[in-house]
Amino acid sequence: MDSGAGSIRRRGLMLVLSSPSGAGKTSISRALLERNKNLSLSISITTRAKRPGETSGDDYIFVTPTDFNLMVNRRELLEHAKVFGHYYGTPEKAVIDCLNEGQDVLFDIDWQGTQQIADKVGDDLVSVFILPPSTGELEDRLRRRAQDKADVIAERMAKAADEMTHWDAYQYVVVNEDFETSVARVEAILVAERLKRTRQSGLVDFVTRLRQGY
Ligand code: 5GP
Repeated sequence: MDSGAGSIRRRGLMLVLSSPSGAGKTSISRALLERNKNLSLSISITTRAKRPGETSGDDYIFVTPTDFNLMVNRRELLEHAKVFGHYYGTPEKAVIDCLNEGQDVLFDIDWQGTQQIADKVGDDLVSVFILPPSTGELEDRLRRRAQDKADVIAERMAKAADEMTHWDAYQYVVVNEDFETSVARVEAILVAERLKRTRQSGLVDFVTRLRQGY
């Protein structure tokens, strides 16, 4: 995909995707990462148990509650929150390193973390909320995934209604009716946000050189 801002230097942006579980956010994130070399995923730490197929370092960094608290106390997390009874957090250093390398960073985090990042970084944040097309579709997707036990699915369905109340704290909302359309919509957001004048920090020099005839 077109990186959106040509060769002009620009500040990296922080793209947050949030949704109730089962709305398709993880698949959309994977597609965005595959198709956008300029985008890196922020790997969160969590105290929850590893699910089958997950690997530490790729999906999450799985830590003990003691290690989690140590990182909180050392202020190593950009944000952290308790979600479904487990703790999750974003290691700050990895994010800063990516941004410094000119990479945009993708976050798959909940509304509490999004709020904390918004308070810290302001305009560097681009937030997108993914909604399922219907409650029935959401339930089907959770069942098809079937990685969680039935009681966990029931709990997540109950929580989905709560999570959806936070849609209006986000800058963009995408209803995930069709996977490819949703990916294209988030990519369109990414391209437009990269082109914002205020993000293109190299424009002043570029236009100066243009006016000087270079
Ligand atoms: P799961 O355990 O199903 O992978 O994720 C459960 C929820 O936790 C999802 O809504 C996910 O977006 C959220 N989450 C994952 N990592 C983080 C994080 O680092 N911070 C916050 N605030 N939420 C997270």
